[in-house]
Amino acid sequence: MNVWGVPTPNPARSPGGITVSAQSALNEVRPLVIAVDGPSGSGKSSVSREVARRLGLEYLDTGAMYRAATWSVLQAGIDLESPAAVAEHVRNLDLTMATDPAAPGVWVAGHDVAAAIRETGISTVVSKVATNLDVRAELLRRQRDLIAAARSGVHEGVVAEGRDITTVVAPDADVRILLTASEAARLARRAKELHGAADAASVEATRDQIVRRDSDDSTVSNFEVAADGVLHLDSSALDFEQTVDAVLAAVARTVTGSGSVADLDESARAGAVS
Ligand code: C5P
Repeated sequence: MNVWGVPTPNPARSPGGITVSAQSALNEVRPLVIAVDGPSGSGKSSVSREVARRLGLEYLDTGAMYRAATWSVLQAGIDLESPAAVAEHVRNLDLTMATDPAAPGVWVAGHDVAAAIRETGISTVVSKVATNLDVRAELLRRQRDLIAAARSGVHEGVVAEGRDITTVVAPDADVRILLTASEAARLARRAKELHGAADAASVEATRDQIVRRDSDDSTVSNFEVAADGVLHLDSSALDFEQTVDAVLAAVARTVTGSGSVADLDESARAGAVS
């Protein structure tokens, strides 16, 4: 199951949904840096990870870096209302990111925090740390280093996702995509992921994590409107596989001039890239 609650893969579909030749052409395009931004619940993490897996690229979840920083600040007992102390802690943070899409990981001082950083307690306060501009400057520097290392590493490329990758971290990426979905679609997906259902009570319980967090985050990053040259993909009406297909087609169209939207099936085309 993926975050949309839809079982995958569907064996009847061709890999990637784009033609096999378009996908193999993509596997030849190196180096390749793909930047994906979007609000919470847009599916950017699971879609980016799958796109990275299919294309043989590394996968960088920058949200996990902000979450790990938040986890560490809380562990150290630092007051979130003391921006200078928070920034100082993050500058000294011993953070390791594993960028294999088959096994992404996050360690703070050698401690595996992959599960802990997904707890509600972190989601509730992460924006406080992420809106600290000195923290952003430090993580920006580290994210650029990780992207540069991936670009010149064995896989020669990466799918990096977050809130400001297309605009601030990697505005020179080969492909830049803003992945959005309606608030209703995002709430329903995240409610299913967190509570196993998208009934009214689960949706309400999820609202703080989606609507309030995005509103706080949008004070420091623009991830609601595609910047110049950024492809906009609305996944509201698409399932997980269709969204992956649409991203792969957008990548193919941008970097090889083939694998166009015409290669997609009807439903994926309906959520077309603009
Ligand atoms: O994507 P995810 O929900 O894991 O991100 C957690 C938080 O990290 C976001 O709510 C936002 O505050 C912050 N973030 C950010 N810039 C990024 C990625 C994430 O500010 N590039």
